[in-house]
Amino acid sequence: MSIRTSESKGRLEVVCGSMFSGKSEELIRRVKRAQLAKREVIMFKHSLDDRIASSYVASHDGNKFEAIPIEHPSTILAVVDADIQVVGIDETQFFSPEIISVVSELIDQGKRVIVAGLDTDFRGLPFGPMPTLLALADEVHKLKAICMECGNEAQFTQRIVNGKPASFYDPLILVGAQESYQARCRQCHAIDKGDIVLDGASYTQMQA
Ligand SMILES: [Zn+2]
Repeated sequence: MSIRTSESKGRLEVVCGSMFSGKSEELIRRVKRAQLAKREVIMFKHSLDDRIASSYVASHDGNKFEAIPIEHPSTILAVVDADIQVVGIDETQFFSPEIISVVSELIDQGKRVIVAGLDTDFRGLPFGPMPTLLALADEVHKLKAICMECGNEAQFTQRIVNGKPASFYDPLILVGAQESYQARCRQCHAIDKGDIVLDGASYTQMQA
């Protein structure tokens, strides 16, 4: 990491929450406001997200903003030039840990970085690079959805496979399965854990 004394640093804002909590909506709102303020803005998203048009970040409310779908975090540094002042990144949980050093570099370059993503996976465990980005953030905006079971505020993403709560041992990304997702509160979030007992060490192992 280089030491820069004469240039001002940027900042990191993290918008997180469960599915259906309005993360993309909030990300789009922030970058559109930056555009209104005549800032140079660029948006990226992980190419795994195939929701509606692939070259947009789209919210469930139908709002959208043009975005470059990418797989490797290093692409961001190759695309972002000196004129860009604000960088938005959606579906950040899917990126490799390299996204953390890329975001740090952008901040060192003086840019405002706004990342959005799921803070926990369907098991309720911290998701990919998100916990580290949350720790590094200048500002964290944790959004809640509404529990589709009881109507309380929801912070978990429920995965349902063939009508039943998913197994703890399912892969994080299922391809070709009959699955659906709901927002659930802690009380209503269900996972088929078998006989696994979660302690601090197992949380750390699941992250590795
Ligand atoms: Zn509930």
